[in-house]
Amino acid sequence: MPLSAMHDITGPARAAGRGIGAFNVIGIEHAEAIVAAAERAGAPVVLQISENCAAYHGALEPIARACLAVARSATVPVVVHLDHATNPDLVYEAARLGVGSVMYDASQLPYEKNVRMTAEVTRWCQQRNVWVEAELGEIGGKNGVHSPSARTDPEEAASYVAATGIDALAVAVGSSHAMLSRDAVLDIELIARIRQAVGVPLVLHGSSGVPDRDLAAAVRAGMTKINIATQLNKVFTTAIRQSLADDGTMVDPRRYGAAGREAVASEVIRLLGAIGGDISEPLSSVERTAGAAGYRGPTPGGRRRQGPGRLAGHRSP
Ligand SMILES: [Zn+2]
Repeated sequence: MPLSAMHDITGPARAAGRGIGAFNVIGIEHAEAIVAAAERAGAPVVLQISENCAAYHGALEPIARACLAVARSATVPVVVHLDHATNPDLVYEAARLGVGSVMYDASQLPYEKNVRMTAEVTRWCQQRNVWVEAELGEIGGKNGVHSPSARTDPEEAASYVAATGIDALAVAVGSSHAMLSRDAVLDIELIARIRQAVGVPLVLHGSSGVPDRDLAAAVRAGMTKINIATQLNKVFTTAIRQSLADDGTMVDPRRYGAAGREAVASEVIRLLGAIGGDISEPLSSVERTAGAAGYRGPTPGGRRRQGPGRLAGHRSP
């Protein structure tokens, strides 16, 4: 059950005006940390594998199967999603592997071709119950060539959604990919206008560059899926760098890997608080979302190594 369908978590979240955290995985440590954090927060979560991540591993299958396994053992709803696939073949492979949600990114194509290709991929996916996100307006930052000044036009967004049949739309509203600073300025008013014009969940890419208060404002204005990648890599690498600096004789990757994993988990909990409401409050909103997805709460004495146990520290060989 905890391996969930995207529709089951984004549908209730959109209706309630809440955000869903979608975090990019690099290695299995990221997946473990993200899911452990979601379990601690009692929130549903999305594990995302980008086309670039699959290329890093040499293939989609090993990292996809790892994420699916981590998702299946979770005590909260977890969706595994293919992020920024520019090649339809990768979308088809993801679906065959059991990944139930994909982003097909044809945003670099001229509008008409973007519509035609996206509609074709969407038809194929929806016949197999695979949820499709697509992009209009080319969000900046990938390959370093596009500026954060790109903007999605609300009317064009509505026609694009109607013409392609997609399940969710990634929009350009001021954020940019791979930002190391958190000072992007979002066009909150534009988000509200697109939310009015479009009947499917909206996706914010490049959210690592957006300060927490603006992420919360973006969700209030109508954003549902909040994609975060670079921010986790920042804390992961910083923790590992510190761990190695603290002990110049350390050679066991499990020791510094555990430090990186714990840092990612802490950051995910903080970000889930920013986009999903204050998690120090009673978890009613999250529980409603999770409940609508069929989640009935952790099983007492359930599976091994849930929650904090998932991140249990280093053990000697
Ligand atoms: Zn993106």
